[in-house]
Amino acid sequence: MITVMLNEAGFEYDIHSLVRAFYPMSEVKVFVEGEKDLVSDAGFPVIKITRSSEKTVIRLEPSPLEDGGDSRVSAVRKEVFTEPGLTKDSFRNVLKQLIYQVLSARTGKELPWGTLTGIRPAKIAMGLLEQGKTQEQILQYMQDTYYLSSRKGQLCIEIAERERELLSGIHYRDGYSLYIGIPFCPTTCLYCSFTSYPISGWKERVSAYLSALEKELEAAAETFHGQIPDSVYIGGGTPTTLSPEELERLLSKLQSCFPLERVQEFTVEAGRADSITREKLQVLKRYGVTRISVNPQTMREETLRLIGRQHTPEQVKRAFYLARECGFDNINMDLILGLPGEGEEDVRYTVEEVGKLGPDSLTVHSLAVKRASRLSRWIAENKVSVTQNTDAMVDIAAQAAAAMGMQPYYLYRQKNISGNFENVGYARPGCYGLYNILMMEEKQSIVALGAGSISKRLYPDGRIERCENVKELALYIEKIEEMTERKRRLFTDS
Ligand code: SF4
Repeated sequence: MITVMLNEAGFEYDIHSLVRAFYPMSEVKVFVEGEKDLVSDAGFPVIKITRSSEKTVIRLEPSPLEDGGDSRVSAVRKEVFTEPGLTKDSFRNVLKQLIYQVLSARTGKELPWGTLTGIRPAKIAMGLLEQGKTQEQILQYMQDTYYLSSRKGQLCIEIAERERELLSGIHYRDGYSLYIGIPFCPTTCLYCSFTSYPISGWKERVSAYLSALEKELEAAAETFHGQIPDSVYIGGGTPTTLSPEELERLLSKLQSCFPLERVQEFTVEAGRADSITREKLQVLKRYGVTRISVNPQTMREETLRLIGRQHTPEQVKRAFYLARECGFDNINMDLILGLPGEGEEDVRYTVEEVGKLGPDSLTVHSLAVKRASRLSRWIAENKVSVTQNTDAMVDIAAQAAAAMGMQPYYLYRQKNISGNFENVGYARPGCYGLYNILMMEEKQSIVALGAGSISKRLYPDGRIERCENVKELALYIEKIEEMTERKRRLFTDS
């Protein structure tokens, strides 16, 4: 375990993420001096950070880091002068730079994303573009401030430029988008950390869940007085685990609350191939769904079995062709790099198979091992080392997307992401996911309905307020009035 102690609160998350990026196999604990009895909790600190009125000092002990606690490695002490009036954000940058310098020197590693630990790196480039900075200035700033590699900096700028162009024709600032979560899936994937219940055990609760959602839809329609959302996204979970009749019930209610024909983009995550049928696709088509996802994650059958998806690559192909037959001309496919047991050859095979289908967009994720997932327990129980995504796998996927005529258009990072990489959405021109951009770049308010969903109100000054629905299904149904009222207040209070 790597213990970090600092004498000022408010930076624990940043420090934890950055140290973990250098030592992905180690448990990292960050303590604030005086708040905890560090010695009895975790032993002496390996990294100690002290901020005084004029300087910040970091001291790194020789053990027990991943170098095996080699006593020939001497302790490192580094300090920087820090102005007294530094804002919290500026100090955060200084602190992360200092930690980066010390850990990079100790490990010999350079992180492609440098000191950036947030989930929206392209948002920084977008903000600088909006201030009128040139690409060169932005790249220089990102490299100097965050120690970002030139490649990742260029990716951020390319994506921010594309997003800006795509958003230029939309009056997104005054608008909003609607998210609806359906928390049921055919089975639970090994790596899942979303709100998801296996449908077989929850069939009895679906109707009550839809009734609660209907109340949320009515309240949202009332709050927005017929103002049409720019985009609608039904995700989860896997919305197509609902029966055709249940889908019809949800969509007809949605249509009676919001005039769907004027929505610019309407996405439904069909997600799991084992949930897709012709009848369900026809219902989606009838209600004007413009974009769906059919997600293989991998085309290796043994990996699909291992990660608990219980569908075959053949089913993915059949579902994809069925969707084309039903008239869907904007189909996304999600892939995951770094799945247990998979290497570069498997990724190459998957993108070749997916390429033969000819999807309109690809979302390429790097596996994130979330603490709450079964994967995290599986790794511990089977004593396997955490699987790692690699630069080569990222390149294979990027090249395959380019060969399919796609360009990167949105980007986000996650905590504990494999290999400290990123998730990138690629699309053919004209098939970009508008909701993904609006949500990821925090450009618009999101009204989110359903268990575990998070609504966000974006104010003109850029401030964001959030309101969360409870995750637990029974509680969501029970507390629906209370959550609906909280959401109404979020969007109407001035
Ligand atoms: S399909 Fe998605 S939401 Fe459902 S169990 Fe798998 S990862 Fe979780």
